[in-house]
Amino acid sequence: MQDPDLNPWQMLRGYQPFSLCDWPGMISAVLFFGGCNLRCPTCHNAFLSWNPDQTSCLDCTETLGRIARNRKWLDGLVLSGGEVTILPRFDVLLRDLLEAGLPLKLDTNGFRPEAVRKALEYDQVRIIAVDIKGPWDMYPDLSGGYAGPGQAEKCLGEIFELARSCPERFLFRCTRVPALTDKDIQTVRSYLPKGIDLKVQAYMPPRIHQATF
Ligand code: SF4
Repeated sequence: MQDPDLNPWQMLRGYQPFSLCDWPGMISAVLFFGGCNLRCPTCHNAFLSWNPDQTSCLDCTETLGRIARNRKWLDGLVLSGGEVTILPRFDVLLRDLLEAGLPLKLDTNGFRPEAVRKALEYDQVRIIAVDIKGPWDMYPDLSGGYAGPGQAEKCLGEIFELARSCPERFLFRCTRVPALTDKDIQTVRSYLPKGIDLKVQAYMPPRIHQATF
């Protein structure tokens, strides 16, 4: 449990100045924040997600300065992690980043629908990319024991409700980790509101962790 008074910038653990793949069709910079409410065994950023206190914090002012200097080359900023929606005072972080004047994309596991609802209040938050791990009954295994089937169905069900009113602002993804079959992918697809597609991503085994970029 994170200190509710913590400055969210104290959880900044990585900054990638240019990316062509984190926001398809956009040149983006990616900010990685430490901490996560799940423990997916297939996590690519396990160290910063699960042990943020053992990784060093990037300087907020310096990072915002780097973004400002590169602004003319960038189409947007991606907030990733870890799980950014669990950050204390998440809306403060959003407001700080909106001052950079760039569209934002938010990556989330969907377990904090209230934070996603808050993010949608800002028009500059263009895309919420939601990872669905698999069928509800597989969540205990896929989340490392941190999420049950009922919790997954409830939280992601709330996200689906949000997506019904603005589907253009959501991207639903499922990574085909080794435990998932074609039938499981079909099951995940069947959860989505009518007319909203599921992007299935190939699974790449994690590389050795890099704490900062
Ligand atoms: S939700 Fe994402 S960041 Fe968190 S443990 Fe799972 S894969 Fe890693």
